[in-house]
Amino acid sequence: MITKIVKIEQVKEQKEALHEAGEILRSGGLVAFPTETVYGLGANGLDAEACAGIYAAKGRPSDNPLILHVANRSMVEQIAAVIPPLAEKLMAAFCPGPITLIMQRKAIVPDRITGGLSTVGIRMPENDVARALIQAAGVPIAAPSANISGRPSPTSAELTARDLDGRIPLILDGGPCHFGVESTIVDCTGNKAVILRPGAITREMLVELLGEEMVAMDPALVGADVVPRAPGMKYTHYAPKAPLTLIEGMPTRMVRAFQREVVRLQGEGQVVGVMASHEVLAGLKEILPAELMADYGHQGNLPSIAANIYEALRSFDDKPADVLLGEGTTDQGLGLAIMNRLHKASGFRTIRA
Ligand code: AMP
Ligand code: MG
Repeated sequence: MITKIVKIEQVKEQKEALHEAGEILRSGGLVAFPTETVYGLGANGLDAEACAGIYAAKGRPSDNPLILHVANRSMVEQIAAVIPPLAEKLMAAFCPGPITLIMQRKAIVPDRITGGLSTVGIRMPENDVARALIQAAGVPIAAPSANISGRPSPTSAELTARDLDGRIPLILDGGPCHFGVESTIVDCTGNKAVILRPGAITREMLVELLGEEMVAMDPALVGADVVPRAPGMKYTHYAPKAPLTLIEGMPTRMVRAFQREVVRLQGEGQVVGVMASHEVLAGLKEILPAELMADYGHQGNLPSIAANIYEALRSFDDKPADVLLGEGTTDQGLGLAIMNRLHKASGFRTIRA
């Protein structure tokens, strides 16, 4: 299959391309598209056959449910059995935006996409290409991240094409993603808002809106040995080709810790790649060639780090690195989402600085 990549600069000026994309979705095909979080691989969310195509193209485990993307409230009502008061509050504050709300589903939502759960994940993206595409399709769009299962999520059309070229007919190119990490998933089916996956809508933002006592975290996120309530969270994720180890700790100790570890690994004859801040990489110039460095932004600049981690991890795929070292961040604010992705990408291998 030939994959067409169409650049969408102005939604209003590209009605034809969006119409064609909507047509592909309505007839059961797949379209990759930008959102403010990462690129998604979309299919008609009410068509079980079409969604089966997503699992096949990605190699995604069938028990990992898909999120349904909607353009407006009437689409939420089309798929949610009830909209609990908690969900109403969260929608009023954060939708459209990088948050996914878990609610009880209506029967119109195919079993195939929820992995048999009685609930459905609903997200209203803010990105205007995503919104125009959902409107053009006229149905909720089921969309996981547009990568081969287990790999880092794509944050540009080029990175999407690296995984899906030849597997789908169309990629809409809306430029790089604003946030760069997936949506915050919040379960709204109980009396508290339970964070199942941290994201750009931070725990602190939820607490400010709802109060501390109304916000909880899925125990699986804070290290408890229990099955996560978001089925997809149990799988290996975001992994670069070479094994990654994180160095975590005080920012002021990072440079020394990296220098020591790079020299130690090189002494073992390993080719080392480093994904880290500008500040840490500056301290490695003497011992590491530039092509084995990936700069994820300035130390402490969490929005920039979030936007860069997946591309930085993927940048080593075609380089000769045997092992990778990555710099950890704080776990406050957006840092919680960053560290969640980095821990998974590294299989929880960590060194304390
Ligand atoms: P992805 O689309 O690849 O970002 O993954 C979607 C995430 O949402 C996975 O971790 C799923 O397990 C989770 N998810 C989707 N629907 C539900 C649901 N109904 N209940 C809990 N988690 C869900
Ligand atoms: Mg994903």
